[in-house]
Amino acid sequence: MKFVDEFRAPELITRAAQEIRRLADPRRTYRMMEICGGHTYAIYRFGLRDLLPPNIELIHGPGCPVCVLPMGRIDDGLSLTLRPDVIFTAFGDMMRVPGTKGSPLEYKARGADVRIVYSPADALKLAIANPERQVVFFAIGFETTAPSTALTLMRARAAGVGNFFVFCNHVTIIPALHAILDSPGLQLDAFIGPGHVSTVIGCRPYEWIAAQARKPIVISGFEPLDLLESVAMVLRQLKAGRAEVENQYKRAVPWDGNRAALKAMGDVFATRPDFEWRGLGWIPQSALCLRESYATFDAERHFRMPGIRAADPPAAQCGEVLKGMLQPAQCRLFGRECTPEQPVGALMVSSEGSCAAVYNHEHHRAALDAG
Ligand code: SF4
Repeated sequence: MKFVDEFRAPELITRAAQEIRRLADPRRTYRMMEICGGHTYAIYRFGLRDLLPPNIELIHGPGCPVCVLPMGRIDDGLSLTLRPDVIFTAFGDMMRVPGTKGSPLEYKARGADVRIVYSPADALKLAIANPERQVVFFAIGFETTAPSTALTLMRARAAGVGNFFVFCNHVTIIPALHAILDSPGLQLDAFIGPGHVSTVIGCRPYEWIAAQARKPIVISGFEPLDLLESVAMVLRQLKAGRAEVENQYKRAVPWDGNRAALKAMGDVFATRPDFEWRGLGWIPQSALCLRESYATFDAERHFRMPGIRAADPPAAQCGEVLKGMLQPAQCRLFGRECTPEQPVGALMVSSEGSCAAVYNHEHHRAALDAG
């Protein structure tokens, strides 16, 4: 198949859903975690839960980078906007993420020089165009976006740009999966593996999930047929008592990953000893920082960062949702105090956040149906 319509063809979707019903044993339940926020979005956007038998529960994982960033890191980044010489840049999906004293967009409304960029290269261009200012790029994302930050830093160093800084919040997926599997009380049968991250890291880093944790994992694409086929592949493994890494997304994910992207990341980034994740706490070796050779571009070294630690509002249950202990609609604030218009937690902001996905595609639909 070559065209997106083919991955959404109703007759193929119907056939895939029938195959899932044939494979699923009605005497048991299945709990599968889709790790990637892009998958969570696609599941709700295309109404895929309606096609699954009720004994298959999809648990939403920690694969939305905006959602897992603790509030203190947002506050730390925003503290730089108080400096008149700083232009603070970030991706659009960061703009409404709440810190303790407001989101980047609210800081902008109060007069801070906060700008949306579409890539780190845009932030570098801003730095070159404004040599009298200090341009800070709020770098965020898993291995999917880290290579473009690395390449931009290489370009900045080659061009001798002295007023470009990266506040590095890149995180890595494998340590988070270790933390999830170590969470007491979380029962999971299998994983739907992240498609975007795996285009960079490949399939090999997941082999321990099959070998040690004895859980099947299927790396999946993002179209409805991809996801349904991945669920069927998981069911086939469980039925046969197998636990393997399988690659459904072969058209984009090479088994060994993208060597050029991995090399760029390795040249520019080192692994932090530990990093705090919203909901999952401090996870060893789960995030990246700039290597010594790029220290002059490191916002954390160049500026005096306050190192703010901030807890989520006590009633917010973002942590439980991120760990898969609660479904989004089970949070006590969901759809009342916390909505996409007035988000309390980051999961209600990003399109890949599970709370926003449920609210926008299910809760809203239910409200329209009711009334
Ligand atoms: S509804 Fe809001 S407060 Fe509750 S988990 Fe979702 S984002 Fe967090």
